[in-house]
Amino acid sequence: MTHTNEVSTHEAAEAFTTADRCDVCGAQAWVRAFLSTGILLFCAHHARAYPAALEQADRVEDGRDGMFI
Ligand SMILES: [Zn+2]
Repeated sequence: MTHTNEVSTHEAAEAFTTADRCDVCGAQAWVRAFLSTGILLFCAHHARAYPAALEQADRVEDGRDGMFI
């Protein structure tokens, strides 16, 4: 057996597109927060500005990929 399975340790977030806009300012969104009340989108700036929203989320998809500002 020479082949190896590349097991991803994290679920791949659904790709973010230019159609995903921050719910606060309308900029390109890079973070999705799945809350019991619905899905919120945040740009990189507002994902940092509203950490409480991310903490309350059932799941967070982060598409910033190391571009933490
Ligand atoms: Zn924003």
